[in-house]
Amino acid sequence: MTKTKTMTKNMTKNMTKTMAKTMAKNMARTGATNPLATNPLSTNPLSTNPMSGDGRLKIALQKSGRLSEMSVGLLEKAGISLTKSRDQLLCRAHNFPLDVFLVRDDDIPAFLATNVCQVGILGQNALLEKQALFAEKYAALEEVMALGFGRCRLSIAAPTSFEYRSVDSLNGKTIATSYRGLLEAYLRDKGVEADIVTMEGAVEVAPRTHLADAICDLVSTGNTLISNGLQEQDVILQSQAVLIKNNNMDSELQEIYEKILSRIRAVLRADNSRYIMLNSPIDSLDAIKAVLPGSASPTVMPLQGREDMVAVHAVCEEEVFWTTMEELQRNGANSILVVPIEKMLD
Ligand code: ATP
Ligand code: ZN
Repeated sequence: MTKTKTMTKNMTKNMTKTMAKTMAKNMARTGATNPLATNPLSTNPLSTNPMSGDGRLKIALQKSGRLSEMSVGLLEKAGISLTKSRDQLLCRAHNFPLDVFLVRDDDIPAFLATNVCQVGILGQNALLEKQALFAEKYAALEEVMALGFGRCRLSIAAPTSFEYRSVDSLNGKTIATSYRGLLEAYLRDKGVEADIVTMEGAVEVAPRTHLADAICDLVSTGNTLISNGLQEQDVILQSQAVLIKNNNMDSELQEIYEKILSRIRAVLRADNSRYIMLNSPIDSLDAIKAVLPGSASPTVMPLQGREDMVAVHAVCEEEVFWTTMEELQRNGANSILVVPIEKMLD
């Protein structure tokens, strides 16, 4: 048996049943052949087995859902251009040693735990839930960085008719959730004893159908709760998308990972930063500097033909609101321009 085949066999053996099932489901849906097979005639754009040590970092992203677009967008902003394979399960970056696995978010921790991928992007809620359920298996997965999108909270909600005074009101009640691990830990911590019904989806209908007295689910706007006659009561977790990694990188992959990390950091900083240009009376320079949000050391330049005014340019690492601009104006600034920053590297 060739080395590649042996590795494929071991990796496949290590994959969780769900993961294998999902891949099969996805492949059936797209009519794709197994992208992990070593068939030399495969249409897979990865010329070598993607799981072998080919010096390319593997990242797992959500295939389709709330995090997909932003996750791929983040890599693209980091200058990584992706070409989708025909089976849509794998993307190859053609200007960077990176392969992207597009999978269900629930499977991402398993992809990292089995070292099929070394890096991933998923909701903090999904990672913490897996770690709550299978502490040992996922202990080595590490959250590296919050990415600022996919914000939501895991909350307990109950029908408006439920007299909810505190979490203690859940004693002896039934709660429906897709987050059994996190909910159990929360209730244990609060000393509450309740029955938990695990549901894969449509958790919000459980009280109406008398499956449960309350629910524990992800909330962002709260509109779904309201339209189901539910009221948010306790927040268990504030969550957002995070970059995660395993601790299984050799020095070659580590180097690629660090480069990506530095680019992602730069993208996030640039996204959150604005470049401000304005003209300021010399006399009010200090007052204006004090108003500039999150700016360490602005550049001050003379304005031709004006003894009393200077030009001020600054990178502000915070949002610049209309109220900030109005305050700058009140302090004597004029010609205020606020522009987005495309790229930024220290
Ligand atoms: P998959 O098919 O990949 O399993 P999914 O249906 O489990 O998808 P999505 O609904 O796409 O997952 O949510 C993915 C992540 O988006 C969640 O785990 C969470 O981190 C984040 N998220 C942000 N807002 C919400 C929300 N209102 N409801 C659910 N998830 C949200
Ligand atoms: Zn999911």
